[in-house]
Parts: sequence; structure tokens; C-alpha cells
Amino acid sequence: MIFCPLASGSAGNCTYVSFGGTRLLIDAGISAARICSGLRQLGLTPADLDGVLITHEHVDHIRGIYVFTRKYGIPVYANTGTWKGILRRDEDIPMNRRFAFETGMDFYIGNVNVMPFAIPHDASDPVGYMLRCGELAAAVATDIGHLSDDWIGKISGAQAVLIEANYNAEMVRNGPYPYHLKQRILSRRGHLCNEDCARALIRLYAAGTQAAYLGHLSGENNTPEIAYDTVCGMLREAGIRPGEDMAVNVARREQISDMVVLEVPEEQRRRAVFF
Ligand SMILES: [Zn+2]
Ligand SMILES: [Zn+2]
Repeated sequence: MIFCPLASGSAGNCTYVSFGGTRLLIDAGISAARICSGLRQLGLTPADLDGVLITHEHVDHIRGIYVFTRKYGIPVYANTGTWKGILRRDEDIPMNRRFAFETGMDFYIGNVNVMPFAIPHDASDPVGYMLRCGELAAAVATDIGHLSDDWIGKISGAQAVLIEANYNAEMVRNGPYPYHLKQRILSRRGHLCNEDCARALIRLYAAGTQAAYLGHLSGENNTPEIAYDTVCGMLREAGIRPGEDMAVNVARREQISDMVVLEVPEEQRRRAVFF
């Protein structure tokens, strides 16, 4: 399994996951040119992809999807609510490249089992993804208003996860955003704070998670250092040693991150490492 965010943050999200010979992107929230450049750094071209999974219709998750799909003909997967949001815009996606799924119903793309699960966020029908192939699993869960047993349960057992660490609450409260925007971020259908990200990871560690990206960081209300220090501090308090028991990495906002590689099921016993 190779897991690698090409970009992660409130300005644009796109994550590459491959296993069992199937190669997928989750979200296409950066320009098609940046997606291609990220793939190139992994030694790939768009033609190598089997599909793009969309989490929800906010622009930081779909910005590049129109050009990317029209140009390269990659199939796009989203639920009906998200499709309505995507296709409301002028640009279009060819009919034969559109695939609709139902939230909570799993399906296959190539050798990968895809489980889209509901998340609390202020979009039409937002989802996170749990991807499985054999004994390996990877999950992406960002744009999440609050912790819940529901979504944490859905991704329990994933060896590699990308979890939102969007903001530091003090920075939101004292920051320049207008009141309504602050309320939106802090609400139960907004974004996940650093502390809640840590609480999720403590539970996921107990279920077998070996490598975690802290993702979807706000550019105004967080910094990579604050997110990393807050999460690692809470992990240590819970008796989990970052870098030893669980690899922790902040996904980069503007460029491709280090990747997680888990080669074969037997290697599950070895710790995941970032390259
Ligand atoms: Zn977002
Ligand atoms: Zn969103």
C-alpha cells in the first residue's frame, strides 16, 4: 500500500492511495496541473489512475476535477447529493465518467473495497473513505465537525489514516475571521480541532493504526508545529510514543507529503514508516 497526500488543507485536498494494483485519488481540490505534478513526483501519470473519489462538493475538494476528468477521462465517484453540488457549476464532467454510490454502501474499484461513510459537515452528503485490500486498510477522514463513535468505528483497523487537525481553538477565537465564519468552524458541522484529532488517534491506535497524517490544516487558525505538538503531547499522555508506537506526520498544504508504504500483509507487524 502506498498512501500519500498530494495536498492537504483548507486551500485544497488531494490524496493518492494505491494497493493491490489499484490506484485512486481521494478528492481533486487542487488544479489539474498540480495533480499531474504530484503524480509525476510519485513516478505516475493520470493514465495510471483507476478513479477519483470525492468526499463532498466544497471547492477545496473539487477544484481540479472538471479539467482533470475532461482531459484524462478518469472515472469520478461521488454520492448523489455531492454530484448535485459538483454539476451545478458551468463546467461539466462527461456522463460516462460519472459514477454514483450510496453513503454507507461499499463497492469495489479494481481490487480495492471502498466504504464511504457519513461525516458531520456542512455539505450536502459529505463522506470519509475506508479503503481495504486484503489485510491492509487506509482511511481519509477530514472536514469533520465533531468526534463520534460512528465515524471512528468506520475507520478502526486502518493501518494508515489521514485525520483532520484543522484548528487551534484559541487561534480561531482571537483570529481575524468574521463572527459567522468562526461559529461555522467551531460548530458540530464544521471542522475538527487539534485536540479532537488526538483523541481520535488515541482510539485508532488501540485498533491498530500505525501511521497518521494530520491533515486539512487551516492556514489562519493553525500551524504545522502547533498541530504536531498538540497531538503528540496528547498521544504521549496516553502512553503512545509518536514515531515509535505510531508514525505521525503533518500533511503539507502546498506540496506532496512524505508517503506511507506498507508492502505486504506480513509487514503489518513492522511499524509503518514515512519516506
Ligand atoms: Zn475541506
Ligand atoms: Zn468542506
